[in-house]
Amino acid sequence: MNEQNELSGPRILDGRSLAATLREELRSEVARFQVHYGTVPRLDVVQVAGDAASDWYARAIRRACQQVGMTFELTQLPGDIGQQVLIERLATLNARPETHGIIVQMPLPKHLDPDVVIAALDPRKDVDGLHPLNLGRLAQGLPALVPNTPAGGMELLRHYDISVAGKQAVVVGRSNVVGKPMALLLLHEHATVTIAHSRTPNLAEVLGTADIVVVAVGRPGLVTGAMLKRGAVVVDFGINEVADGEVVGDVDYASALEVVAAITPVPGGTGPVTNMMLLRNVLTAAKAQQV
Ligand code: NAP
Repeated sequence: MNEQNELSGPRILDGRSLAATLREELRSEVARFQVHYGTVPRLDVVQVAGDAASDWYARAIRRACQQVGMTFELTQLPGDIGQQVLIERLATLNARPETHGIIVQMPLPKHLDPDVVIAALDPRKDVDGLHPLNLGRLAQGLPALVPNTPAGGMELLRHYDISVAGKQAVVVGRSNVVGKPMALLLLHEHATVTIAHSRTPNLAEVLGTADIVVVAVGRPGLVTGAMLKRGAVVVDFGINEVADGEVVGDVDYASALEVVAAITPVPGGTGPVTNMMLLRNVLTAAKAQQV
């Protein structure tokens, strides 16, 4: 990687082109699934008290499903829905054979406990990979529905032949949806993993040892080139809207480019691959539910 950097500059890990390849693969697999089982995989998205951001996300997922031939259904529920009523709605989806995958859009209104709601999903339909059974299986290294964002990060590393075995990896951020599962996936691929978070006193010192740096925080410019080891590989999950609607990652891209061997751009890095991992989970879940 060092040589590559010195000879031809850093590699840009292009998530859009990988997503296009994965989309074609998924489209073929969905067609094969349909021939074999006489039905298509179906994803149900549950939206409680929608806003512009969650509408945008639902539209993006609908389009992604349509592009590969999957069925998409959106259930919109009022913001004052009671927790028990929501759980009953989820139980209906859990029991419906046509529904193979379920997502409950987050964040939920304050009066709803996300942990209780996620635990109410049938783990076989939990295509966000957030149910305790799926995260527990992931922790144990057992087959599981894995959270989409970190699965996409690993897919990018694999696609670009970046081996993590034996490398020092630092994951900044420890959420259940990104940081923690990413650390587990890197560990399963034999990296030596450190997890940094808001109480880590000297982030620069920790990052300075890392061959692979993964950032999932939500703070623009948190990580700069000066904090990185020369030749590091950087996966930036951050999505931050700054002035004029511009979207940037958590890594200061310009200064990082001076030192890294490879980096995901924002936008166009991890984001597009995340959606493909969701669709892959729906297909995996649908296959597992065929008897
Ligand atoms: P989150 O739940 O808010 O977690 C943020 C994590 O960052 C926490 O673990 C927090 O530490 C840590 N943190 C906060 N300030 C820090 C600091 N100064 N130094 C080091 N660590 C710090 O966020 P998330 O859901 O994981 O999302 C993280 C980012 O990824 C966001 O920008 C989000 O938009 C983006 N995202 C991207 C995708 C994608 O497809 N690319 C998907 C989902 C999310 P504590 O635990 O100590 O509070």
